[in-house]
Amino acid sequence: MYRIKGATGDWEVVVGLEVHAQVTSNAKLFSGAATAFGAEPNTQVSLVDAAMPGMLPVPNRECIRQAVRTGMAIEAQINKWSRFDRKNYFYADLPQGYQISQLYHPLVGEGAVEIEDAGETRTIGVERIHVEQDAGKLMHDQHPTRSYVDLNRSGVALMEIVSRPDMRSPSEAGAYLRKLRAILRYVGSCDGNMEEGSMRADVNVSVRRPGEEFGTRTETKNVNSVRFVMAVVEQEARRQVDVIEDGGRIVQETRLYDPDRNETRSMRSKEDAHDYRYFPDPDLLPLVLDDAFLDECRASLPELPDAKRARYIGLGITPYAADVLTAEVENARWFDALLDAGAPAVAAANWVTSELFGALNRLGRGIGDSPVQPGQAAELLALVADGTLSGSLAKQVFEAMLETGDAPGKIVEERGLKQTSDTGAIEAVIADVLAKNPGQLAQYRDGKVALFGFFVGQTMKAMAGKANPAVVNELLKKALG
Ligand code: ADP
Ligand code: MG
Repeated sequence: MYRIKGATGDWEVVVGLEVHAQVTSNAKLFSGAATAFGAEPNTQVSLVDAAMPGMLPVPNRECIRQAVRTGMAIEAQINKWSRFDRKNYFYADLPQGYQISQLYHPLVGEGAVEIEDAGETRTIGVERIHVEQDAGKLMHDQHPTRSYVDLNRSGVALMEIVSRPDMRSPSEAGAYLRKLRAILRYVGSCDGNMEEGSMRADVNVSVRRPGEEFGTRTETKNVNSVRFVMAVVEQEARRQVDVIEDGGRIVQETRLYDPDRNETRSMRSKEDAHDYRYFPDPDLLPLVLDDAFLDECRASLPELPDAKRARYIGLGITPYAADVLTAEVENARWFDALLDAGAPAVAAANWVTSELFGALNRLGRGIGDSPVQPGQAAELLALVADGTLSGSLAKQVFEAMLETGDAPGKIVEERGLKQTSDTGAIEAVIADVLAKNPGQLAQYRDGKVALFGFFVGQTMKAMAGKANPAVVNELLKKALG
């Protein structure tokens, strides 16, 4: 249990996250403008996004579909009737003077995300997912005395995923965010790229004595990595405990995180919903979903991380390897392709998590540009399974595959790397090894059985690693009596 030690005793931290996730879609929420990251400023702005007079928003079906699929992935209630509201405020990056969002009737209601932390499974409630527009971006570093506005992001669709205040430690907050990111990436509704700003979290933190009512929370805005979210929870909880123990009070406020100093700073006192004069957007009809649309959304959902992990464990794969294989959707897809190509599950899991990931790490590559494809890897594993290759020969063949891109069968032929089970040849080598090491042989016969490994090693070495280890073992036992 995570506790903050104060001068007057232990404190508990309470965390709720509001995650803004950019919807994967070629077009914006209410216009046809493009959404590509990193485009020249103001090249992806339609008249709607620039809020020219008389322009009307038209909801983009794909954005709604992605939000519905996301809701289904966290087993949330999908509201067949929802509505858009205007959230009114002035800022230079918001040409409309209001953001179109959903306050009163969100698209997605109550759902849940299962997390695993410190060996325990916990369910974190999700209160709602609503759909809203992103704002533009102000640029202050381009000119000594001027600021510029880039409206490329203006009108891009966001999902705001609001958790319940169910997390109780920095690591739970981290686990929740990682799990949510994985789900979004499996579903394909958000690329989860936190560096590019496709996913950011507002971190709500309060502290209390264990068992007491919730305390007053602060909200630290736009935190853009899992590590920073965890740091915010830790720093903010510590700060709040210090304030309260010094006789002060926590004020509900909006804060900013400064990663360079690892501290949060007050930005402004927190505004309430009524400050924004929310009202239903008169330019948009309520959003009404029919069963056919919902059925299509549901049918298009892929196998999700928890289900995949359970399936892998069912195939005999260790929970640890199943975690590693399912954490990133690309890895899981690659592994599924390997299984589809006929590789035996347990051997494949061991090989991928040690040999393949090791090689990719060395090469500085992601699985997306692995030099070896699942089909070739399945062939390699088949050569191990049928006894053609020993483990150590398979490593040599894999190295050659990485270098040449050739198929394993071809490499085995060309380089003569086949494992031999020829008992006559192996027996001859064993006889030679025993003859050359009379000292060790005498010790072994005196009871120093640990020397068995020495004889195996000498025999394998004499056969350049190509002898079948199982056969060597068996024949050595016989030879040593
Ligand atoms: P708002 O829209 O004003 O930010 P909400 O009531 O929608 O307020 O809550 C926003 C987030 O704050 C939610 O993720 C919720 O879980 C979290 N939250 C609410 N109360 C607390 C609290 N006492 N401590 C920590 N987080 C909280
Ligand atoms: Mg909020």
